[in-house]
Amino acid sequence: MPSEFNLIEKYFTHPAPKTDLGVGDDAALIQVKEGYQLAISTDTLVAGTHFFHAADAADIGWKSLAVNLSDMAAMGAHPKWATLAIALPEVNEAWLGKFSHGFFNCADAFNIDLIGGDTTRGPLNISITIMGEVPIGKALRRDSAQCGDEIWVSGELGNAALGLAHIEGEVQLPSNVLQTSLQALHRPQPRVNLGLALSCFAHSAIDISDGLLSDLGHILTASKLGAEIQLSTIPCSEFTQTHLTTLPLKCMLAGGDDYELCFTAPVNARDAILAISKKIGLNLSRIGCITAMQGLCLLDDNKMKIDLELTGYDHFA
Ligand code: ADP
Ligand code: MG
Repeated sequence: MPSEFNLIEKYFTHPAPKTDLGVGDDAALIQVKEGYQLAISTDTLVAGTHFFHAADAADIGWKSLAVNLSDMAAMGAHPKWATLAIALPEVNEAWLGKFSHGFFNCADAFNIDLIGGDTTRGPLNISITIMGEVPIGKALRRDSAQCGDEIWVSGELGNAALGLAHIEGEVQLPSNVLQTSLQALHRPQPRVNLGLALSCFAHSAIDISDGLLSDLGHILTASKLGAEIQLSTIPCSEFTQTHLTTLPLKCMLAGGDDYELCFTAPVNARDAILAISKKIGLNLSRIGCITAMQGLCLLDDNKMKIDLELTGYDHFA
């Protein structure tokens, strides 16, 4: 049976070029660039709650880091370092090999150094702390939306939740839709480039992990403002567009695990934002605007308020 130290050496030790002292000592040592703040965030994934026990270990490895990177993206921070605290019910080297592979695939794709962590026995649980740099005062905060800002969303919403609904037998997706939905669910793509590019233009941002209505709601609460959004402008897949019945609608407005960014920016930043969209090859959609009156209004194409209870949305609350 390999010791804890063998496991750390074999599965969690990887070159860390941005780090003064990495895995192996009592603590890691890093340096933040002059003129920058350290942005820090932690997210935990618990087996049975955030992923199925039988889920592919490489997917779990990817996703556990990707969801943390998404928080850096939402702050407009440049992610650089991560620590990994993992509890394992048993030493399963096949599982660890796959997990480590998926984790470092994501770490390498985004240039992240794993600088330390903790390895213990216990119910499967993965807790990652991510650290990144952001120029002092330039972070994209939730509390800084301004009245009149336009509200934007990246990519498409609802795909991951649709994939989950399929797995749970709530819907039967055609195979091409299923493929993109499962990809969105298992291999989310954190919008790090977008967050970095937005830091000069956007007033506020959040990553959509719990559904658009809930996460945009956090910006509104923190900024003490309201919003009007137009249902038909919310970006979604063709499948969702043509099946705007209760389940796909619920996935798009309130599904989890999108990891797209929702941000607000002044009207005069519109061209710059569209140029960013083109440059990074990611669709950015304008879905509404920030209002002085608090609360979130969902509107149809005639600017009439949509009663969410009528759409069935409320039944899922
Ligand atoms: P200590 O007993 O001083 O807390 P540990 O035995 O927990 O040290 O860890 C030894 C070294 O390995 C430390 O540098 C720690 O950060 C690192 N480490 C432990 N587990 C992990 C892991 N899952 N991923 C990355 N580094 C780890
Ligand atoms: Mg320790």
